[in-house]
Amino acid sequence: MTKNDFDEIFESCPTVIYRSTFDNISTFYYLSNDIEFLLGYSASSLVSQYGKWNELIHPHDQMRMEQQLKEWIDSGSQDTLERQYRIKHQQGHYLWLSDKARLLKADDDEQKHYIGTLSDITELVTLSANFQTLSRVSPGVIFQYEVKPDGSSRFPYASDRLKDIYDVTPEEAAIDATPVLDAIHPEDIDYIARTIADSAKHLTDWACEYRVFIKGEIHWLYGHSIPERALNGSTIWSGTIIDITDRKNLELKLLKESTTDPLTELYNRRYFMEIFEKELNRSIRDKSNLSVLAIDFDFFKQINDNHGHTAGDKVLVECSTLMSSQLRNYDTIARFGGEEFIVLLPKTNYEEALAIGEKLRSIVEKFQINYDGKTFPVTITVGAASTNGDNKDISEILSMADTALFAGKNMGRNCVKGIR
Ligand code: GH3
Ligand code: MG
Ligand code: MG
Repeated sequence: MTKNDFDEIFESCPTVIYRSTFDNISTFYYLSNDIEFLLGYSASSLVSQYGKWNELIHPHDQMRMEQQLKEWIDSGSQDTLERQYRIKHQQGHYLWLSDKARLLKADDDEQKHYIGTLSDITELVTLSANFQTLSRVSPGVIFQYEVKPDGSSRFPYASDRLKDIYDVTPEEAAIDATPVLDAIHPEDIDYIARTIADSAKHLTDWACEYRVFIKGEIHWLYGHSIPERALNGSTIWSGTIIDITDRKNLELKLLKESTTDPLTELYNRRYFMEIFEKELNRSIRDKSNLSVLAIDFDFFKQINDNHGHTAGDKVLVECSTLMSSQLRNYDTIARFGGEEFIVLLPKTNYEEALAIGEKLRSIVEKFQINYDGKTFPVTITVGAASTNGDNKDISEILSMADTALFAGKNMGRNCVKGIR
């Protein structure tokens, strides 16, 4: 190839190519003509102009650029030096350049030369700056999460907020996701693992509310991301995670308030009826037994009269805990109103219901209420009703239990009566 051939190749190359010497600062002695298209200056106005290029570099970038170049040349490194800096266009505005250089071999006594390329990365830098700003104002972490084919995982990108939310730096997470995964609440780990596996398998959005332990405190997080499969078989999710602790606590508080009785902390009547309906439908479907116990304290007016209303409240609170302790975890006890309680016993037949009623009656009878330095006993009457999937409806079952309770009261109280 002749020199003309080379010139032709350089001039038709879509990036600007240069050749430079290093003498404290760089001076081009070759620059391809596209520089005019890039910066508005002709190549000839920049070639062999000592210090001219440096003057065009943004004052904030000058020192750093000189230093990087000097260190690179002094080290004799054969690696490409990539520098990014702002350069002044002939019309006065600045562009961001990517300047990649490589040393040319030189004898010791010869001046060092290097060749390089210049390309305009203004759009990229602007986009990246916009993204950085957005990620700073975003209320949560912006992240990419990668699960590799060998099952290991990492966060190739995470905005700085990762540190605020997980107390893990983006640099640590970029190597290994373990510190982030370790923070997940033990009760939520299986659920999270399942949703991630599902999302990876079907490439569907991942959206989850879950708890994490950060510095000994429980936080609620909401994560939402979109998965993609990479060529190497990795799955990469891009998305955000925000802290929803305040909202979630409020939601849980409202849910608790709407389902429980504030005095005894048992479920309230409204929530009991919801559970009752579900369980009754299940018992009809499965042709299984279902029983209900209606409980009413005996002579409660007298307790209030003799010991005061606060003592009466204490009876309700302490006996609620006592009765709950006797039930199985699939039973439901609720405060039905005043000093009346109700118990739902799934998969329980009539005889078993009477036995559980008796257990409750007897434990309450043995218990002594301690109030204002005095102790006194209390008793309850229990009415039981059962169904075995025979199409009785809720009101029929409740009225049977009520009738049984009424019979118990008539027969002297502190007893268990039932209706089949
Ligand atoms: P019985 O054996 O026939 O059931 O007699 P009783 O006195 O318990 O009669 P009843 O069930 O009709 O009376 C319930 C009383 O319980 C009336 C009410 O003042 C009292 N009570 C209802 N709710 C509360 C409460 O939240 N706290 C207190 N301390 N008393 C309550
Ligand atoms: Mg009553
Ligand atoms: Mg009563």
